[in-house]
Amino acid sequence: GTREQGSGEPNYLVTEHISKSYGSNMALTPIDLSLQKGELVTLLGPSGCGKTTLLRIVAGFNAPTTGRVLLAGRDLTPLPAAKRQMGMVFQAYSLFPNLTAQDNVRFGLKVSGVSVAESDKRLNTLFALIGLEEARTRYPHQLSGGQQQRVALARALAIEPQVLLLDEPLSALDAQVRLNLRDEIRRVQRETGTTTLFVTHDQEEALAISDRVVVMDKGRIAQLGTPEDIYRRPATPFVAEFVGTANGLDAAATGDDQIEVPGWSAPVRVEGARRFARGERLRLYLRPEELRLSAGTGADGLSGRVTDKRFLGSITRLSVRVGEHTLVADLQGNEAAAHPVGEAVTVTLSLLAAHVLRAGPAHP
Ligand code: ATP
Repeated sequence: GTREQGSGEPNYLVTEHISKSYGSNMALTPIDLSLQKGELVTLLGPSGCGKTTLLRIVAGFNAPTTGRVLLAGRDLTPLPAAKRQMGMVFQAYSLFPNLTAQDNVRFGLKVSGVSVAESDKRLNTLFALIGLEEARTRYPHQLSGGQQQRVALARALAIEPQVLLLDEPLSALDAQVRLNLRDEIRRVQRETGTTTLFVTHDQEEALAISDRVVVMDKGRIAQLGTPEDIYRRPATPFVAEFVGTANGLDAAATGDDQIEVPGWSAPVRVEGARRFARGERLRLYLRPEELRLSAGTGADGLSGRVTDKRFLGSITRLSVRVGEHTLVADLQGNEAAAHPVGEAVTVTLSLLAAHVLRAGPAHP
């Protein structure tokens, strides 16, 4: 049955002070991470931030320079990949081309010495789970990319792994297939209760699929939190700008509950501004959905002009020139219709939802 996320045992999969150097290049600075049983945690970050390196160390393909990988309290670090009982899915096309879908899945079972009767039972369950019963006897070249990745997922789950490791499993797929399979992976992961580490550079994917997200930057953890934390309460300018669309503006602390934004006629009151000393350099972040527009020039708010408009389906994204800045505002279709390109508008900020951070180094 479905296991509730959050009920799992804590510290189930732990990376304890894991670091990795390649010569003088510190690909990972000591990383301490802890997944609870049944949790799906995503490593998110730009190319080169070290997420694949960390995943491969957990898998046992690479040895760490320092630190240990622990599973349920047991030190796995000396064990080779094959002895770690982890299932892996890679970016794409890792199926054996000369084996049918079901023989691909069966392969891992044979290797781990599961009986034929038990194998057959598991195959039935797995193909039902991934919804590909009709394609069991097809070869990989007779399957779509999305179907191949589902078979790869079934193969990874066949050994009933303690941990599932997914390295950009969706990035070779078309947009629609990608969204469907993302939801499928999450469903299967929940139904099987498999503790999962998922690597992606796609922030939307990370927010949608994860219990918690680890945002990585240059071999470090920039922030670890729930998708909501990461999006609403980014810990650093790097996180605010990497995750989601952020209107980021330079600002200065006034020493009280307001901040000054160059080019804005008056200081604005922002939650949390008091914690900064007068004159400190800040960044103000406003999510596009937090901006409100009204036609004309109002007393309360910033005067601007609509310079661009893009219909994105469920929302319409407007660019609004305010002084020297261009702000991005996401509006519902009917609200957006009221503000044609070229129109003068007043922007009101939901400053309760705004977020101020100290500008400067990403890792204070
Ligand atoms: P990508 O999404 O591009 O794969 P990533 O976040 O997964 O990026 P890693 O592949 O883990 O990043 O790489 C982290 C750093 O380690 C990079 O600076 C990379 O150049 C370096 N690196 C990775 N593998 C090796 C290696 N075998 N030898 C030397 N340097 C390496």
